[in-house]
Amino acid sequence: MKRKISILGSTGSIGRQALEVIDKLKDKFEIVALTAGNNIDLLNEQIKIFKPKYAYASDINLIKGAKPLSLDEICSNKENDIILVAVSGKVGLRPTITAIKNGIDIALANKETLVMAGDIVMAMAKENGVNIIPVDSEHCAIHQCIKNISQVENLIITASGGPFLKKSVEEMKNATVEQALAHPKWNMGKKITVDSATLMNKGLEVIEAHHLFNKEYDKIKVVVHPQSIVHSAIEYVDGSVIAQLGLPSMHIPIQYAITYPERYEGIKSKSFSFSEIARLDFEEPDWNKFKALNLAYNAGKIGGSAPVCLNAANEEAVFEFLQGKIKLFDIINAVEYLMSKHELIKNPNIDEIFDIDKEIRLKTKEYLKLLPV
Ligand code: MG
Repeated sequence: MKRKISILGSTGSIGRQALEVIDKLKDKFEIVALTAGNNIDLLNEQIKIFKPKYAYASDINLIKGAKPLSLDEICSNKENDIILVAVSGKVGLRPTITAIKNGIDIALANKETLVMAGDIVMAMAKENGVNIIPVDSEHCAIHQCIKNISQVENLIITASGGPFLKKSVEEMKNATVEQALAHPKWNMGKKITVDSATLMNKGLEVIEAHHLFNKEYDKIKVVVHPQSIVHSAIEYVDGSVIAQLGLPSMHIPIQYAITYPERYEGIKSKSFSFSEIARLDFEEPDWNKFKALNLAYNAGKIGGSAPVCLNAANEEAVFEFLQGKIKLFDIINAVEYLMSKHELIKNPNIDEIFDIDKEIRLKTKEYLKLLPV
């Protein structure tokens, strides 16, 4: 029987690669719906090739070849066996919740969903018997390593270090958008690539891991590993370490997540060779240069609305950076400032989370406007 899947964000980096995976596994999948934002031309091309029943885009009148539905209708449609949430940023949260409420499994590529509302989302998934399979390569690696979570001592998340690993603080401060987007190992969307340059991405991943695997923050370690071959590891209570290795390609974690618990050859292009790779390096992150990492750990440990504030300030500042309006370090300064002013709500509900998110974004814009150009 074919697995029925919808892809939220099919025109983005993860969405396009997911369709490449599905194209290789045509006999395994049937596409229920594809959704996009503004890239309607590409969406219509995808509709022609993959023939989903339904589609959504920011302007549904421009959709050709599939029945237009709202995001809410798509995510509550029980024809879906699984929904791949491949949108970027806070827009992932509401549709994910709708799908979970309807008992539909989630392949989650949107870490902001767990950063903003991890407690609520994970509790809801448990209540509704929904599997949340991580697509993020580090969490996918940990998911593959873990047999029994209660025997796990530490989660070890690897970080490539991004384009500024070997650069000075001064060089990083004055980095251009192009330099920040030139990731040495991973080809990803713009927002996540900037997050990888500041290591905020790793910070968000620590929070994501805390929720997915229910581990305390002091049991989640980050190690810099420039080759991006070890995608993450776990250390068991007896000191045994299990790591997942592979060539850096998002096709593999995407395929794992949408086919789990099965495994297929799918899009695999090349066999893994230890001798070709020859060496693997690891080092402690530079906590002074990459302040984002500490900010994220702190936000996670505080919990409640703190990660919502962290995420909103970061996302807003990254947009401004991408438009060339602020410097790279202003992103982290904005996050630090907004975090220091944040009035914590201990157990925010979903509406409160969205209210806080909105408020922090406005305040972030105000803060950034006052910066010298
Ligand atoms: Mg990742």
